[in-house]
Amino acid sequence: MKIGIDPGHGGEDSGEIGSSGLKEKEITLAVGMLLGNALKDNGLDVVYTREKDTTVKLPVRTDLLNRAKCDVIISLHVNAAGDSKKNYLTTRVQSKKGKAEVLALFVQRRLVAATGWRDGGVHEAKVPVIQETRIPTIIVELGFISNPGQEKWLAVPEHQRKLAHAIAQGILEFWGQPYQEPEVKKGKESLAGKKIDREVKVMLGGKEIPAGMIRTEEGKEKALVQLSDIADLLRLQFKYDPETKTITVKT
Ligand SMILES: [Zn+2]
Repeated sequence: MKIGIDPGHGGEDSGEIGSSGLKEKEITLAVGMLLGNALKDNGLDVVYTREKDTTVKLPVRTDLLNRAKCDVIISLHVNAAGDSKKNYLTTRVQSKKGKAEVLALFVQRRLVAATGWRDGGVHEAKVPVIQETRIPTIIVELGFISNPGQEKWLAVPEHQRKLAHAIAQGILEFWGQPYQEPEVKKGKESLAGKKIDREVKVMLGGKEIPAGMIRTEEGKEKALVQLSDIADLLRLQFKYDPETKTITVKT
């Protein structure tokens, strides 16, 4: 199954902005990238309308999604309202009684369970990204950025991960496949205090040095190695001065 992920807004278009300055485009991108990773870990194909903070016009998004022949599309947004107390989750579909509604109900249920927020239900809405695509599409509104409490919550990377996993779980349920939470290798959980998501082999001058793959907050994978291991192998002097918190490597 191929999933189209559409992180709403981006670039010149910030989307809604919260009172502390958090932008809708930042949340949709962070959750979108984490969602893509979770889906890929579960063997699904993923197509993004954007993977960076770039401006992508609506016709470009719909054209890209249509041509990619996705099975379903998830468009990510955050709600805003004049009333700063509004705090519910809602998912929009072009019309009810179709595949999109079934998918929306699975995703909505998982999001409500993961956040504990009020269930705003699944609604019909005329939304351009839906009208122009021929593929079952849902628009997920991840709470209200205009609600200071929800804005604060949304800014936390661990919470963004929670949202991404909830959406991924809903998609997998819709597809009838059990969801596997990305594995964290036991006993190798930390290297410089970072969680290791995946193993990676790093060879330096024909010798293997301990390494791990970490995932950044944006969902990008990076290899992590200990600088002291590299220094040892290259016969360099490695010195750490706790006073000035400075590491010096020299020949
Ligand atoms: Zn939006």
